[in-house]
Amino acid sequence: MMDLQDINQNQEDIPPPKIIGLTGGIGSGKTSVAKILENKGFPVYYSDDRAKDIADIDSELKEKIISLLGKEAYLEGKYNRKFVAGKVFDDAELLNRLNSLIHPAVKQDFEKWLASQTAEYVFKETALLFELKLNEHCYKSLLVTADDNLRIKRTMDRDGKTYRDVEAVMQKQMPEKEKIKLADYIIYNNSDLEDLHKEAKLFLNNLK
Ligand code: ATP
Repeated sequence: MMDLQDINQNQEDIPPPKIIGLTGGIGSGKTSVAKILENKGFPVYYSDDRAKDIADIDSELKEKIISLLGKEAYLEGKYNRKFVAGKVFDDAELLNRLNSLIHPAVKQDFEKWLASQTAEYVFKETALLFELKLNEHCYKSLLVTADDNLRIKRTMDRDGKTYRDVEAVMQKQMPEKEKIKLADYIIYNNSDLEDLHKEAKLFLNNLK
C-alpha cells in the first residue's frame, strides 16, 4: 500500500508542465484556440480573465486601483474594465502604473495555478506575451494571427464596436510582423472555425 511518503515522492517525480504562451492581437482568435485546446483536455490559464477576477477579489489591489484611477474603477463592487480601459487608453504613464499593480498579482496567481497542474503541457493565454517578455518564461510560444480586416470585423461583430474603435486598439498593439518573428508556432486564422480546429490539430501534431 502507498503511504504519504510514496505519494510525495511520486509528485516530485512528475516533471513540471511545459508552458506554452498563447497569444495574438485583438480579434485574432486566441481565445477561440484556447477553448479548442481546453476541449481537447489541455489546461489553459486565461490571464486577462484572471486579472479581472483578481481585481474583483483582492481587496488590497482594489484599494490601490481606486487610489490610482478613482472610485469609478469599480461599479457595484466589481472591477469596471470599460471605465479603466478608457481611462488609460491615451495615457501610457497611467497604464504603466496600473500594470505595475496588476501584473505582479497575476504572476503570483499563475504560479499558484501552475503548481497544481500535472499535465505535460499547459497553455497561458495572454495578449501581452511578447510585450511583457513572458515568452522568456515559456517552453514555446504560439501566435494566432489573421488579416487585419478580418480581425476588425470579428471584433466589431463580437463587441458591437465601430471599425475606428477596433483599429485604434490594434494600432497600439505590437505589430503582427514583429510577433510573427518572435513566435515558435503560428496559427493563421483566415478561414472559418472548422479550419481553425484543423489548424489547432496540426499544431498539436507538430508539438509532439
Ligand atoms: P481579444 O484579444 O479581442 O479578446 P481574441 O484573440 O481572443 O480577441 P476571439 O475572441 O477568439 O479573439 O475571436 C474574436 C471573435 O471572432 C469571436 O467572436 C470568435 O468567435 C470569432 N472568430 C474567431 N475565429 C473565427 C473564425 N475562424 N471564423 C469565424 N469567426 C471567428
